[in-house]
Amino acid sequence: MYDAIIIGAGASGLVSAIVSARRGKKILILEKNNKVGKKLLATGNGKCNIGNQKPTPNRFHSTNPIFVEQVLQGYNYQTIKQFFKSIGLELIEAKEGKAFPMSLQASSVVKLLLFECEQLGVKILCDTEVKTVLKQNGGYQITHGHGRAEANSLIIATGHLSAPQLGGVNDGINFANKLGHKIIKPFPTLVQLTSSMKNLERMAGVKIESRVTLQHNNKIIQKQGDVLFTSYGVSGLAILDISRFVMEELLNKKSIILTIDLMPKTSQEQLLALIKKNLVKKSSKPLTIWMQGFIHKKLILPILEPLKLQNKTVGSITSNIEELEKIINAIKAFKFTINGSRGYKGAEVATGGVSTKEINPRTMESKKHKSLYFTGEVLDVDGDRGGFNLHFAWVCGIRAGESV
Ligand SMILES: Cc1cc2nc3c(=O)[nH]c(=O)nc-3n(C[C@H](O)[C@H](O)[C@H](O)COP(=O)(O)OP(=O)(O)OC[C@H]3O[C@@H](n4cnc5c(N)ncnc54)[C@H](O)[C@@H]3O)c2cc1C
Repeated sequence: MYDAIIIGAGASGLVSAIVSARRGKKILILEKNNKVGKKLLATGNGKCNIGNQKPTPNRFHSTNPIFVEQVLQGYNYQTIKQFFKSIGLELIEAKEGKAFPMSLQASSVVKLLLFECEQLGVKILCDTEVKTVLKQNGGYQITHGHGRAEANSLIIATGHLSAPQLGGVNDGINFANKLGHKIIKPFPTLVQLTSSMKNLERMAGVKIESRVTLQHNNKIIQKQGDVLFTSYGVSGLAILDISRFVMEELLNKKSIILTIDLMPKTSQEQLLALIKKNLVKKSSKPLTIWMQGFIHKKLILPILEPLKLQNKTVGSITSNIEELEKIINAIKAFKFTINGSRGYKGAEVATGGVSTKEINPRTMESKKHKSLYFTGEVLDVDGDRGGFNLHFAWVCGIRAGESV
């Protein structure tokens, strides 16, 4: 008989195991993958953006924002840094407040978490998928691929649907649902976006710094960073950052329009001045060649064709300020139609999950069932890109480990 069974050897499961085992608890972790921390290994492109120096509540999203505020209270970046120091992992800080392991290797995070679990006598069974969860005699009984196990407490740290190729599943949500918990419907976020625009193939491969704008709930959302045009639509950091708002819009619409400033560092006036300098009266130079002087060639036809200017020459537009302004507007406010996303397979995170109204934010314990805990992405909380999702997972793990 264990003090606690933890379902999932991911970010929050491993931390909750360490914290509770340090308190003398006898812990069993069950993991369906063939190794622990498979998703963790892929984080931050293998470098693991382990946290952020400013994990303020406005960087998180939930249908119950007060819950996030309460979870984060008193559990800041220093808490995380100290925890990792205690297992021998040093952190370094980078731009935008992002934190990484000093080794810049996600594998070192997993290795040290695993070693600490083993040192503390935590039993970990991989290739062991939990099938059912039953409340029994004041504790919990679970069945898994190779048998059954019992414990006084149960921590559901199963993650959520994002990245199924790394183990993302709905199991935790199903267990919660069967135990009578309310579930908030999920959608993929921090995800690449798709389009059916006709110029996609032409633009594919172009990666430029852009400012992306979306009208969302009567507000203007803007994100700046790389945008990568692809044969399916758009990717890049600015796209991942705005994807949550786009996906929310797409819940009730078939498509939305993103406005992309293809030259965010050059103002409208500066661009006009630059272009005017390059205009030669009576020149027979085609616009398609002339524009290569200041913008990526693969973007030129997608800019000119909707304006019906693709066959014009420089000479023909020198005296037409309206046409010049149209070109400048198309560069500064390029319209890109989005009709969906690459789905959970392309998503870093899934929104939605177990309703946090039924969870105690100080202990992560269910308000419906004593000694049942939920940690990490399985809960209806998701964070921005920049280390916020892992910060939330670590904090949940620590809180549950302290309470179990
Ligand atoms: C490609 C990628 C890159 C990312 N990069 C970052 C980043 O740099 N920074 C950041 O903050 N966040 C990042 N994230 C998000 C972050 O990895 C997750 O939010 C975080 O891992 C969630 O932790 P968790 O403990 O809730 O679940 P997970 O870490 O997903 O762990 C859940 C575990 O439970 C196991 N499991 C599920 N069901 C069962 C079952 N029935 N039986 C047994 N085991 C089960 C799964 O196999 C999995 O190992 C990234 C995500 C992806 C996909």
